[in-house]
Amino acid sequence: MSAPDATYFRKGFGLKQDVEATLSADYSGHVVDLLRARDYELTASDVTVRLAREFGFCYGVERAVEYAYQTRHKFPDRRVFLVGEIIHNPHVNLRLREMGIEILMPGPAGFDYAGVLADDVVILPAFGVTMADFQTLRERGCVVVDTTCGSVLNVWKRVEAYARDGLTSLIHGKYYHEETRATASQVERFPGGTYVVVRNMDEARDVTEYIEGRGDRAAFLAKYRKAASAHFDPDVHLRRIGVANQTTMLARESLAIGDVVGKAMAAANGEEYRRANFRTFDTICSATQDRQDAVNAMLQNPPDVMLVIGGYNSSNTLSLAALCAERVRTYHLEDALCIDPARGSISARDPVSGERVETMDWLGSGPVTVGLTAGASTPNNKIGDAITRVFATRGIELADIR
Ligand code: SF4
Repeated sequence: MSAPDATYFRKGFGLKQDVEATLSADYSGHVVDLLRARDYELTASDVTVRLAREFGFCYGVERAVEYAYQTRHKFPDRRVFLVGEIIHNPHVNLRLREMGIEILMPGPAGFDYAGVLADDVVILPAFGVTMADFQTLRERGCVVVDTTCGSVLNVWKRVEAYARDGLTSLIHGKYYHEETRATASQVERFPGGTYVVVRNMDEARDVTEYIEGRGDRAAFLAKYRKAASAHFDPDVHLRRIGVANQTTMLARESLAIGDVVGKAMAAANGEEYRRANFRTFDTICSATQDRQDAVNAMLQNPPDVMLVIGGYNSSNTLSLAALCAERVRTYHLEDALCIDPARGSISARDPVSGERVETMDWLGSGPVTVGLTAGASTPNNKIGDAITRVFATRGIELADIR
């Protein structure tokens, strides 16, 4: 039996109790607790705030952040690095920096680990890292604390199986997103392993047209140069396909993409061919699914306006905002500070255009119901701050609410 690897940790250090109080002080929020106690709804004067029943920190984020705190606690005297942001929330990343954790950011050629020494400690984020980054870090001999979420590991298993069986992985995701880059790199561990990433249904249509013989090879290659394996050839690699997705995409769209690609394969080659050469598997994580389901439930009885809180680069937050914007006037804000009660304004990202827009008098006058949800990387205290500012926009102090 080989000795345990003393430089690689996947399950924290058993220091949960030592960091619990700090975590709670940094991220929990009494306003959110109040809403939960009031069945997710709070009314004062003519303002009602409704909170989705699933929102905010997911199990993967909680675990990653807790392990980062444990790591700092375990190695108080060593340099601790983080490979990119641990999650896409500016406050959490800032807090880690304040704790002396240095966040490495990628340059045009990726991450530079030249400054990482064997004595150092490196934390891998919840999204995971590419195989190349992982190997480089292992070769440096430093301690590696791996917080890759179990749901991301499930996607890796899925695409590995596709690659092993000679199927191209068609990944519904963003090719530049950390998670999808890490997932794609798993495919290339296998000889001939190939992937192509499509961002949405429009891009999936490029694939289905190609499968059905209506594509232009040069145009396809030019468009997907950054989103596919270097050796990707649509004439060769769109004949056997396995569909998977980044865990945080819009679930409905992921399922639809799997469906149209399968149908295109059947249309082009027959049902029997499709059965033998096409697979699809929903790899949306349950936390993403739960948050999207909760928003859909809220939209059954739509509020007047929706606020979606989370980083502008947070994929699951973008999915929530897109879902809400289909039905209700929606503001995607990175932070509670985007709501300015004194001016009566809100600065937010428009979920449709992607532009940052400031809107005055966004709450209007008269009775109003504000729906609220938050992405998986948004802590409760920041959600509570936003709720406080919504009420303050109408001059209502939360402290006065009983
Ligand atoms: S969003 Fe899903 S995959 Fe990502 S960390 Fe959370 S639980 Fe894991």
